[in-house]
Amino acid sequence: MAKRLQARRLDGIDHNPWVEIVRLAKEYDVVNLGQGFPDFSPPDFAVQAFQQATSGDFMLNQYTMAFGYPPLTKILASFFGKLLGQEMDPLKNVLVTVGAYGALFTAFQALVDEGDEVIIIEPAFDCYEPMTMMAGGHPVFVSLRPSPAPKGQLGSSNDWQLDPIELASKFTPRTKILVLNTPNNPLGKVFSKMELELIAGLCQQHDVLCISDEVYQWLVYDGHQHVSIASLPGMWDRTLTIGSAGKSFSATGWKVGWVMGPDNIMKHLRTVHQNSIFHCPTQAQAAVAQCFEREQQHFGQPSSYFLQLPQAMHLNRDHMIRSLQSVGLEPLIPQGSYFLIADISDFKSRMPNLPGAADEPYDRCFAKWMIKNKGLVAIPVSIFFSRPHQKDFDHYIRFCFVKDEATLQAMDERLCRWKGELQP
Ligand code: PMP
Ligand code: GLN
Repeated sequence: MAKRLQARRLDGIDHNPWVEIVRLAKEYDVVNLGQGFPDFSPPDFAVQAFQQATSGDFMLNQYTMAFGYPPLTKILASFFGKLLGQEMDPLKNVLVTVGAYGALFTAFQALVDEGDEVIIIEPAFDCYEPMTMMAGGHPVFVSLRPSPAPKGQLGSSNDWQLDPIELASKFTPRTKILVLNTPNNPLGKVFSKMELELIAGLCQQHDVLCISDEVYQWLVYDGHQHVSIASLPGMWDRTLTIGSAGKSFSATGWKVGWVMGPDNIMKHLRTVHQNSIFHCPTQAQAAVAQCFEREQQHFGQPSSYFLQLPQAMHLNRDHMIRSLQSVGLEPLIPQGSYFLIADISDFKSRMPNLPGAADEPYDRCFAKWMIKNKGLVAIPVSIFFSRPHQKDFDHYIRFCFVKDEATLQAMDERLCRWKGELQP
């Protein structure tokens, strides 16, 4: 074809790290601690809800309302309405999407115009940048910066902080949106109320919207509290809050997500949705509705999955932290999410010349080396940074610990073998 094939909006975004790593992980005999999905069953009530949705009312095989299956939008409005301290109308303030990915894409398409600036706090889930660009926007990055941990102690995701002056300097008259992700992927940082107040103040001062990606909101540890920025004074009116059933109920394959916010913003997301996806699979939505009904009844009690999952993942986190250190991987203690990052600086100085392309960041070379030689999959953290900052953050890899006991045991075996190889 003589005509240019690729739409210009795809320039520079054709490579996707997940596609590459998932493919590589399948080629080798590995313990997969890379992509963020549980390798254990969702809770019984969720499995039953899905079974019931597929075998019960035959009308669940058909289309439902465009913006969400009514029992789901209703329970999301009442469940999150209480948490956010906001009366929510299921028809106006909630949109059900194809995963949180779908919510993000719909939001960027609905709100970002050619030339608009979008502030992204990095390290950031990698899709925010291409989604901004596909909408014609211009990503503006501000980095969380680590401060060194006291000698002899492990660092924590809390050591990574925004510089308030640097953050303020990123706001311009073209800034339309700030993207926030708490708990943060890949760091596991849980933004404190004070940090959120700083961000909220700047958004209000500069008339900027906030897209708040809260897919890991239930996964917080050591007494840390997740705070939704939409619950802060003056923020509901300018915030979209995004969640994921995949992450909430350990069922990432269901791909049900949602976005909540004020009607005057949501109506533009509905315009995108009704002209693209139109509506999401009815049965999966029915299953998620049942799961939330159940959670609503158990909320705050020991039987709540939103309490049980973090309790179990806290143990996994601590197990992984102990194990990784045995080979010189230096983990940072995450306050939230089901990821942790480990510092590989020591390897970088001891074996700097791993195979890889000339300009390939060290962490990518290391992650590939680890897959091929140690049978362990982790994600290079530089993928969560903008290109100009990748070289400053090429000495961390991300491990996922939402894994069952057998996987953690298999990890220990690989690490034990690795440790044996280190001994003289
Ligand atoms: N946001 C973040 C921070 C994520 O890590 C992910 C990956 N699950 C998503 C959004 C997308 O979630 P979903 O699988 O529901 O599309
Ligand atoms: N959110 C998941 C992660 O960070 C999965 C991302 C993906 O598969 N694209 O690992």
